[in-house]
Amino acid sequence: MAQKGWKDIPIGGIIDTPGSAREYKTGTWRIMRPIWDVNKCINCMQCWLFCPDLAIIQNDAKMEGIDYDYCKGCGTCAAVCPKDAIEMRPETDFQGEE
Ligand code: SF4
Ligand code: SF4
Repeated sequence: MAQKGWKDIPIGGIIDTPGSAREYKTGTWRIMRPIWDVNKCINCMQCWLFCPDLAIIQNDAKMEGIDYDYCKGCGTCAAVCPKDAIEMRPETDFQGEE
């Protein structure tokens, strides 16, 4: 069989539908869950700024919670929070919930 050149190979890795990543609920990968303490939070939005998955829910520059559908549990939000308002806990603590 003749070897194909790069011009003969079908183009791959194309995203032809904007926003398609919403379909991939990356939260299923999580082994640690960030728990937000609203009483400690000063709405500095550092967690929102640094979250790699846009999983911090904010409205009008105020934190409103964490979107567990997409949060992968990396712990960045807890690491950058200046008020220790986010605690990382094992997912096993929540077995049987939601
Ligand atoms: S644990 Fe990681 S992915 Fe989840 S909200 Fe915090 S920074 Fe975002
Ligand atoms: S980093 Fe901490 S204090 Fe700042 S908005 Fe997030 S949870 Fe609140």
